[in-house]
Amino acid sequence: MRIKLLSLLIAILSIVSFSSCDCCKEKEAKYVFYFIGDGMGFSQVVAAEYYSAFLEDGRIGNNSISFTKFPVLGMASSYSASNIITCSSAAGTALSTGFKTNNGFLGVAPDSTDLESIAYKIHDAGFKVGVMSTVSLDHATPGAFYANSVKRSDYYSIAVQMADSDFEFFGGGGFIDPKGKKGDQRSAYDIIGEEGYVIAAGMDEFQTKKGNAEKMLLLQAAGVESHELPYAIDRGEDDMKLSDLITSAIEFLEGEDGFFMMAEAGRIDWAAHSNDAKTAILETLDLADAVEVAYQFYLKHPDQTLIVVTADHETGGMALAYKGGYHMYFDKLDPQKTSKDNTVSATSYEAGTGNAKEDIDNLNKEARFGWTSSSHSAANVPVFAIGVGSEKFAGKMDNTDIPKKICSAMGVEF
Ligand SMILES: [Zn+2]
Repeated sequence: MRIKLLSLLIAILSIVSFSSCDCCKEKEAKYVFYFIGDGMGFSQVVAAEYYSAFLEDGRIGNNSISFTKFPVLGMASSYSASNIITCSSAAGTALSTGFKTNNGFLGVAPDSTDLESIAYKIHDAGFKVGVMSTVSLDHATPGAFYANSVKRSDYYSIAVQMADSDFEFFGGGGFIDPKGKKGDQRSAYDIIGEEGYVIAAGMDEFQTKKGNAEKMLLLQAAGVESHELPYAIDRGEDDMKLSDLITSAIEFLEGEDGFFMMAEAGRIDWAAHSNDAKTAILETLDLADAVEVAYQFYLKHPDQTLIVVTADHETGGMALAYKGGYHMYFDKLDPQKTSKDNTVSATSYEAGTGNAKEDIDNLNKEARFGWTSSSHSAANVPVFAIGVGSEKFAGKMDNTDIPKKICSAMGVEF
């Protein structure tokens, strides 16, 4: 009898202590979406809102887009270890590892020692991981989440490091130099395939191959021939977009383990390098569509999901004004034109030159967009958040704080 009473007492005590422990415990994010708009400063976001009001309602005003409706707004500094103006690889390193580095370095400290991306910490903690971009996956931002290189342009070495990451899902524009700069190396696609990645070209192939895949590399239908997804402004019906990648990644990664996914809208930056306002705006709206997919997921799992949307830096020194006067004309950004009519080619974006430069300059004058640079600026970038742990992202922070806050929200040791 006494033994029975004692075991009953122990059982009651363990229930009480377990439940009190459980209710004291802070909720942790099981599903995390980390969106990075490359080159997306405050002006790019606000311009997207103004353009949306013009396009949808034909009015002066601003329509909130998916992530500008989020309840938490913060602001992050973007400077690198070597200059106030960062490049994408130093900024990507800050956003992926929580450490500043020199411009041109990727996933390594200024003294060239390797830094660990939070994607690895989160993966080691048992979550599934996805990395996506609208540009090539060996580019600075996605590369910063799985690779280390003292040279961000060492695309081949970055690409082959994907094979060792063991992350479950990669999606986007493939590789720039899959066989190395001289084309004499083993194909990065073959190396990745040998490590157990199933490569799918396009959404149809993804649907047929995903069932038998432990790890997936999803490319657009053009497969290995193309390095980036088309600009939203040029997109054909069957072309893949960032929101397709998010939908696919959710399908592939959702489950008991939880997931962390980083998705980059990489071509806001390219358009802004060209000072092409309309293309930059449409890329920003495209990111908003992708965030909307994550938001719909959040609505189904509000107690387990965190969405963070930020940028690595601002590009172009974009201003919503041109010289003097009190007027801007969003209606001048002709919705019918494709980027082939009014943007420079992707290969000449860095120089801000090209056959169409004159057209872009004229359009900027007519719509009255100002640009101060064909490169990046030192402006702070916005941070938007919703969900579990989102309150951590309010107010001013440094870009190196963001990955630390994500780990903290997930209960992963940084
Ligand atoms: Zn850039």
